[in-house]
Amino acid sequence: EQTIDKIAAGEVIERPSSIVKELVENAIDAGATAVTVEIKEGGISFIRITDNGSGIEAEQIPTAFLRHATSKIRTAEDLLDVTSLGFRGEALSSIAAVCQVELISKTPESLTGTRYLIEGGKEKSLEEIGAPSGTTFLVRNIFYNTPARKKFLKTPQTETGYISELMERMALSHPEVSFKFIAGSQVKLHTSGNHRLKDIIYNIYGRDITNNLLEVEKTFENGMKITGFIGKPVISRGNRNFENYFVNGRYIKSKIISKAIEDAYQSFMMKHKYPFTVLHFQIDTEMLDINVHPTKMELRFAENEKLYEDVYHTILNTLSHKEM
Ligand code: ADP
Ligand code: MG
Repeated sequence: EQTIDKIAAGEVIERPSSIVKELVENAIDAGATAVTVEIKEGGISFIRITDNGSGIEAEQIPTAFLRHATSKIRTAEDLLDVTSLGFRGEALSSIAAVCQVELISKTPESLTGTRYLIEGGKEKSLEEIGAPSGTTFLVRNIFYNTPARKKFLKTPQTETGYISELMERMALSHPEVSFKFIAGSQVKLHTSGNHRLKDIIYNIYGRDITNNLLEVEKTFENGMKITGFIGKPVISRGNRNFENYFVNGRYIKSKIISKAIEDAYQSFMMKHKYPFTVLHFQIDTEMLDINVHPTKMELRFAENEKLYEDVYHTILNTLSHKEM
């Protein structure tokens, strides 16, 4: 069982940023309005993630660490209508298989909290403890029991960079959540959770970009909604890193969406190929298949051509109807 968990962990947990991603997504799924992430040494030796979400009941904690344990879907039909970020029930078991994990959690209804220790998939202890409502995960020494995998980690600085990027995307994808990210003793990102996407763009990218944005807001007959901001062509960039888009709160990569955005910009003959965008897509879950890859970065869309056309025209209209 522990060996299988270690193997399974390889699919989901590649580096410290994978752990942060899974645990922050869990915090968001738990309805947290504030999430703090602290790391040391690029997250290799220490990650602490604190949220003010629903907490986990004491009896549910050991179960939550079992492979394929999820509280988020119950039937096969639920899979077709996933609205939570997680649903595979693989993250906690995978993380616990290759790290030393300490969990402190309390539900609002419960008088006391619970502290749980699990290392290399082995339960160490479960005890009552005083705690605020919400959940704290402490994850220490990633791959301490799989040295071969630890060798593939990059320097703490590089790993910190990956987590920084991830936290920025998390903040952009959930303006309703206040995020704080601390690396070493440095606060790298702090958002207010005031719902204003533009404030987060300012926070991350600064004044020049924020002063050159065009607002996008478009609803389609099939219920799809595109909101957010695109950069005026003056702030286009030499690579795709500035193309951010989110589908139902999830950061994804999509050849179709990227191509539609870039083609629309091309008709304005921008100097660089890749525009700055932060776009939120709301799409009916029945028109999506998110169950494609364990890390859920890829999506399948039911109507590819229509999606391309809708995105292309939305961008084109925004670029042509507002003063440049
Ligand atoms: P999934 O997110 O796919 O359900 P995970 O392994 O990430 O699977 O988490 C297992 C379960 O643990 C979740 O379904 C949820 O019930 C519980 N859980 C994990 N993290 C939190 C959290 N921060 N707050 C509340 N519940 C949590
Ligand atoms: Mg999860």
